[in-house]
Amino acid sequence: MTPATAPAARIADLRRRLDDANHRYYVLDDPDIPDAEYDRLLRELQELEAAHPEFADPSSPTARVGSVPAGKFAEVRHAVPMLSLANAFADEEVAEFVARIGRETGDAEPAFSLEPKLDGLAISLRYEDGVFVRGATRGDGATGEDVTANLRTVRTVPLRLRGKPPAVLEVRGEVYMPKAAFERWNEVARARGEKPMANPRNGAAGSLRQLDPRITAQRPLAFYAYALGEVVLGQGAGATLPPTHSQTLAWLRELGFPVSAEVDVARGVDGLLAYYRRIGDRRNALPFDIDGVVYKLDRYDQQRAMGFVSRAPRWAIAHKFPAQEEATVVESIEVNVGRTGAVTPWVLMQPVQVGGVTVTRATLHNADQVARLDVRNGDTVIVRRAGDVIPEVVRVIEDRRPLDRKGQPLHAPYQLPMECPVCGSAIEREEGEVVARCSGGLFCPAQRVQALFHFASRRAMDIEGLGERFITALVEFDYVHTVADLYRLTVDDFVEMKRRADEQAGVVPETVKAGKIATKWAENLVAGIDASRNTTLDRVLYALGIRDVGESTAKTLARHFGSLDPIMAADEEALRQVPDIGPVVAARIAHFFAEPHNRDVIAALRAPYDGKAGVHWPEGAPRRASEGPLSGQTVVLTGGLAAMSRDEAGARLEALGAKVSGSVSKKTSFVVAGEAAGSKLAKAQELGVEVWDEARLLAYLAGHEGA
Ligand SMILES: [Zn+2]
Repeated sequence: MTPATAPAARIADLRRRLDDANHRYYVLDDPDIPDAEYDRLLRELQELEAAHPEFADPSSPTARVGSVPAGKFAEVRHAVPMLSLANAFADEEVAEFVARIGRETGDAEPAFSLEPKLDGLAISLRYEDGVFVRGATRGDGATGEDVTANLRTVRTVPLRLRGKPPAVLEVRGEVYMPKAAFERWNEVARARGEKPMANPRNGAAGSLRQLDPRITAQRPLAFYAYALGEVVLGQGAGATLPPTHSQTLAWLRELGFPVSAEVDVARGVDGLLAYYRRIGDRRNALPFDIDGVVYKLDRYDQQRAMGFVSRAPRWAIAHKFPAQEEATVVESIEVNVGRTGAVTPWVLMQPVQVGGVTVTRATLHNADQVARLDVRNGDTVIVRRAGDVIPEVVRVIEDRRPLDRKGQPLHAPYQLPMECPVCGSAIEREEGEVVARCSGGLFCPAQRVQALFHFASRRAMDIEGLGERFITALVEFDYVHTVADLYRLTVDDFVEMKRRADEQAGVVPETVKAGKIATKWAENLVAGIDASRNTTLDRVLYALGIRDVGESTAKTLARHFGSLDPIMAADEEALRQVPDIGPVVAARIAHFFAEPHNRDVIAALRAPYDGKAGVHWPEGAPRRASEGPLSGQTVVLTGGLAAMSRDEAGARLEALGAKVSGSVSKKTSFVVAGEAAGSKLAKAQELGVEVWDEARLLAYLAGHEGA
C-alpha cells in the first residue's frame, strides 16, 4: 500500500460505513452502531478530508453539516414538470373519479396506490450514476429553485443510492418537519422569547429556503419519496422500470429512499374511502402533519391512457381532510392563571371548525407572543389546531382589522392585566422572563393545590399523611382557601370532606357499609397538622413557596435575619446584602412579602386559634456569616459521620461562620470526610484541599462552640 492510497481507502471506507449507518438510522429506523461511534467515525472522516482536500466529494456524509452560503438560489428547470393534483372533499367526488377511470380504461375495478398527503414542501432530487447532484423546489411546477446544498443536510435524503440505480433518476417527494420536532423547536423558541414557527409546513419551507445551509442543518427536517421524475435507465440498471406505482415505491425503498409506512393498495370506491377513514382516524397519532390522502391509479399503462388535463393528472386525486387552520374573529382576549401562578393569555373567538372540531378558544402562550402577533380585539386571526395540541393563534390578518371612522385601528394593542383576574394580586413579570406570574402565591385560588402541596411536603412543614389526594379534595370542597386554613381544620371537617369525596366518586367504604365511620385517620391528620405548628424559621420560609427560595436560600435568610419580621420588612436592597442572594431572588422575596394578600396569610398562620398556638418557631438574633471563627471559610461535608447527621454537622459549622457548600473546588477551605467518602474526597486530594476526619471535626466543635 503506497502512502497515497492509504487515506483514500480509509476515506472511502468511512464514507460507506457512515452512509450505511445513516440509512439504517433514518430510513430503516434500525440503527446498528451507537451514536458515539457514529460521531467518532464522522470526526475521523472530517479530519481526513481536511488533511486531504484532493479527495473532496459533495456527497460525503460530512456534507450533512451544511456548506458555506451561496448568496442566492439558482433556477432549475424540471425535465419532467412537477404536477399538482386535483382535490376531492366529498365522498361523491371520489366515487365520480373512480367511475370515470373504470369507464375510460375498461377495467371495472382497477387497483389504486394509496398514500398519506404530507403537509410539507414538494421537492425533486436528481441522481446521476447513483450520486445526488441536484435538488430543487417545485416552484411553479416547470421551474423551481436550486436548494441542493440545503437538501444535503436533510438526513433522510440519500446522498448516494444503494443497489443498482439507473444512469439518471429524479425522485419527487416531500420535505417535512416531524410534529414532535416542531413542538420541541417552538417550546425552546418560546422559552427564549424567540419567534416560534407558525406550523410544521412553514417550518419546513422556511428551513429549506435558508440561504445558509448551516442553518438548515440545524433544523429537524425529514423526507419521504412518492414519485418519479426523469429516468434514464442506462447500462447498469435493471432493463425496465416497475410496471406499477406501488412497485416503484418498493423499488425506491431498495435504492435507499424513505417511503411512508402508510402506503397501501386498494380497489373500488369502498377500498379508497376505507383507507381515507383509517388514515383520518390516525391523523393525530401520525408523527407528521397530513392534509389528506392521495389515490393514484397503480398501473402505469392505465395512467398513460387517462392522461392529463391542464397539467393535472386525470389518474390521481387528493382527498382532503378538514383543514387544521381556519380564520375566525377574536371576541375578547383573556388570561388564565396556572397552578404555579403562570399567566397565559388566550383568545375567546367566534366558533370555528378546525380539524373537524368546533373551537372557541386558542392560546397565545405568553405576553411576548401577543406582542409579536399584535392580536387585538375584533381581529381576524388564523387559528391552528393539530391533534391533541391546544389550538393556538398563529397569525393576524391585518387587512381585516376593524378601523374607526378616521381609518385608525379601533382597538389599542393588548396589554396583560396588572392584576390577577382570579385573586386580584399584582401580576409580575421579571426582566428577561417570558412568563408573567400572579404574585399572590399563598392566596390565589388558582395556585391553591400547588401551594398547599408544597407547604405540607416533607422538607417544608412536614405534615404527616397530608398528600395530594387529600389536598385536592380539601380545595375542591372548599375547606381551605389558604395554607393558614389547614390549622383551623377539625376531625369532623375531614370526615365530612371524605364523605363528600366518596359520594362524588360513587364509592361506599366498607366501614360505612358496616354502619361505622372511621375517624382514626382524620385524628392522625389533625395530629400531624398540630405537630407542624412547632417548627423552624427556615422551614416556614421554604414552605411559603416563594419562587427560587429553596431550602438552602431559606436557611441563609433565617440565619442572616434571625426572625421573620425583619425579612418581611426588608427591601430588595437589604436582601441583596445577604450572602448568596442575587438581585433576581432578592426581587422575588421582596415582591412576595410586599403583596398584602400574602402578608394576611402569614398573619393568619401565626395567630393562635381555638386554644391552639399558631405556627411558631424559635426566633434568634440576626447572625452575620462574618461572625465566628470559621467566617470566610468554605467547607464541604462528604461521607457518613458516626456522632451526628451531615445536616447537623453542617448547621454547627455554619453557626461558627462557615459556608457549607455541596461541591469541592480550589476555593474550598477544607473537606470533612466521614465513612465511605467517595468522589468529593478524591477531588479534594487531587486539588490538595485540606481533609478533616470526624475526630478532628468533633475536637474542633468542642473547642469552639459556646466559646
Ligand atoms: Zn392570583
